Amino acid sequence: MDYPGNLFVVAAPSGAGKSSLVKALMEVDAGVRPCISHTTRAPRGQELDGREYHFVSDQVFDAMAANGDFVEWANVHGKRYGTSRQTIEQRMAAGHDVVLEIDWQGALQIRLRFARAILIFVLPPSWDELRARLTRRGEDSVDVIELRLANAREELAQAKHFDYVIINEVFERALFDLKAIVHAQRLKYSAQARARTDTFRALNIL
Ligand code: 5GP
Repeated sequence: MDYPGNLFVVAAPSGAGKSSLVKALMEVDAGVRPCISHTTRAPRGQELDGREYHFVSDQVFDAMAANGDFVEWANVHGKRYGTSRQTIEQRMAAGHDVVLEIDWQGALQIRLRFARAILIFVLPPSWDELRARLTRRGEDSVDVIELRLANAREELAQAKHFDYVIINEVFERALFDLKAIVHAQRLKYSAQARARTDTFRALNIL
């Protein structure tokens, strides 16, 4: 199915800062909508059901996966995460641009289903900085931080499959880069023709 909106997929190892970047993008760009994922992990800190994630049991996740309710799902750090087919299709059919904040496995599955998806990988500036950020946010135990760092080594190797890379060294610069990617995508001929069909018709170029 061809949708009028654009689909952006942002992946990164945890601690690279992708959540903050995506949140900041949505604050300044009302045209970009999120798609709240389902997960079997427990809420952390101030997280609320239905805001950061839909927190579900293993049984509910199994049933949804078996029912084909996810456009992609993956096992990340021992817990499962999935993107709701209904939510993403509704948002895109309504002409919104959608941004998915998911892991690299999910991103590559999305590309198979939505050929026009734009895949963006966020890199930390260094290993030391990644470790420092994971430690600073104080959400995880030392064991969990070590697991996340070990996983990050494999995750970073996937960056080469993505369309764009943002190095999140200085937050404002990384946000500028993300906005630039979104903006450039919207200016592509095919995206303009979908978003501004009336203008194109009136100019006799469709
Ligand atoms: P966290 O537990 O730190 O919120 O997320 C762990 C990882 O799972 C992050 O890389 C996050 O982007 C990813 N993730 C969140 N939602 C989804 C999803 O729906 N699908 C996939 N494949 N990964 C997700």
